[in-house]
Amino acid sequence: MRILTMKFGGTSVGSPEALSQAAEIVLTTAQEWEGVVVVVSAANGVTDALMKGALSAAGGDGQTYMEIEGDLRSRHRGVVQELLSPGGESSSLLAMVDEHLAEFTAFCRSIHVLGEVTPRAMDTIVSVGERMNAGLLAALLRRRGATSEVVLSTELIVTDATFQKAAPLMEPTRAHVARRLVPLLADGIIPVVTGFIGATEEGVTTTLGRGGSDFSAAILGDCLDSEEVWIWTDVDGVMTVDPRAVPEAQRIPILSYAEVAELSYFGAKVLHPRAIRPVVERGIPLWVKNTFNPSCPGTRIVKEPDNACGAVKAVTAIRDLSMVTVEGRGMMGVPGIAARTFAAVAGQGASVLMISQASSEQSICFVIPTDHVPAVVKAIEGEMAAELRRRDVDRVSSLDEMVIVTAVGAGLRGTPGVAARTFGALAQANINVVAVAQGSSECSISLVVSANDAARALRQIHSEVILHG
Ligand code: ASP
Ligand code: MG
Repeated sequence: MRILTMKFGGTSVGSPEALSQAAEIVLTTAQEWEGVVVVVSAANGVTDALMKGALSAAGGDGQTYMEIEGDLRSRHRGVVQELLSPGGESSSLLAMVDEHLAEFTAFCRSIHVLGEVTPRAMDTIVSVGERMNAGLLAALLRRRGATSEVVLSTELIVTDATFQKAAPLMEPTRAHVARRLVPLLADGIIPVVTGFIGATEEGVTTTLGRGGSDFSAAILGDCLDSEEVWIWTDVDGVMTVDPRAVPEAQRIPILSYAEVAELSYFGAKVLHPRAIRPVVERGIPLWVKNTFNPSCPGTRIVKEPDNACGAVKAVTAIRDLSMVTVEGRGMMGVPGIAARTFAAVAGQGASVLMISQASSEQSICFVIPTDHVPAVVKAIEGEMAAELRRRDVDRVSSLDEMVIVTAVGAGLRGTPGVAARTFGALAQANINVVAVAQGSSECSISLVVSANDAARALRQIHSEVILHG
C-alpha cells in the first residue's frame, strides 16, 4: 500500500482559513495515494497558553487560567461557527470543545488548590490543544465528503514515562499502528491523529517534547512504512536565512540530515533532528512544504549530503548571548582548568554554544545565553577561588550583546576557500569577528559578532557566500 503521512503545524491549523486550506490539501492529496494519515498539532500559541494557565494556577493566580479558557473557547468555537453550518455536526463539535476546555479548567482549579503542577499533569493538560484540533480537522474532512476519523495518539504511540519529553518505544508502537491505523487505511478512511502526544504502557498521557508533532509524524511514517512524510508549515521550506532578517531569503531545495541538525542547533527554527531521525534513517523521503503555497515543491531532506546547491546552504543567528572569558597567565599547562570551568557552568544549567581556547592557553572563552551569566561567573569564581587568590587566574569576565552567526553546509568540508570567503564578506562590511569556531563535522563555521553587527553579518554572508557563492 502506498501510504503518505503528513503533518500540519500550528499555523497551518491555527485559523478557520488555515484549517480549510489544510482540509483542501488533504483531500486533493488523498486522491493520489492509497492511504493518507494526517497528524495535527495544536493551533499556534495554544500549547503555550495551556501551559501558562497551568503554571499561573500553580503560582497562586486563580484568574489567568479562566481568561485563557475563555480565549481558547472563542477561538475554537469560532472555527466551528465559521466552517461548519449549524446543524449537522456543529453542535457535537461545540460540545467537544467545551468538554476539553472544561477538563483544562478542572485541572487548573486543582492545581491552584495544590499550588503545584507535576510534569505528568502538564502533559495531560497540554494534550487538550491537539485533541481539539484533530476533532475539528476530521469534521471538516467529513463535511467535504471524505470519511475521516480522529485517532488519539495515546492509542498509538507508546512511550517511556519521561513526562514532557517522552521517548517512543518503537516495538509496541509498531504493533498498535498495525492494529489500529492500517485497517482504517484499508477501509479508505483518513485518520486524523493528534501530534505531540503519546501514552505510557499503562495508558498515562505523555508528550514528546515541544514541537513534538514532527516527531509524531516521523514515528508514524516509520511504523506505517510510509512512502513519504510531508511536514506542512507556513514557509516555502527550509530557507537560506530567516526571511524576516533578510528578505532575499530563498528556499533550499535539498538538505541533508546533518545539515538540518546543524541548522537547528544553531538557532534556525527548522525540524528538530531527533524528530526526523526515524524517517531519515529508514531513507523515507521527508518534505517540508508550505500550506499557504502548496504548489511550491518545498525542501527535501535526505540522508546523505548533496552538494548540488553550493558549499554553504544557509546562515543563521542565535541572539542574546554573552561571551565569558577566563584568563590568567598562570593557567598555561595546568591540567583541569577547562574541566573545572565547564563543570561549574554545567552546575548552573547553562548550555554552552561555542568554546574556544587559544593555544597559548592563557584564556578560555565560551558563549552562553546572557541570562545565565551572573550565576555562571559567580560559580566559576567560586571554583577558582584559590587560583584567583594566587593570580594564576586573573579574571573571569563577560561580554554581553553577542550573537553567533553560523554558516551551514556539508560542502564546507573539502571546499577550500569557503571560510576565507566568509571572512572576506565580513571584512568588506567592516564587521569585527570576536571569535570563531568550526565544528569538526566541518558542516558549519560559527562566528561571534556583536549584536549591532549581526543583521549586517547575516546579509553579507547570505549575499556573498550563499547567493553568489
Ligand atoms: N503543540 C505542540 C507545541 O507547541 C507540538 C507541536 O506544535 O509540534 O509544542
Ligand atoms: Mg508547533
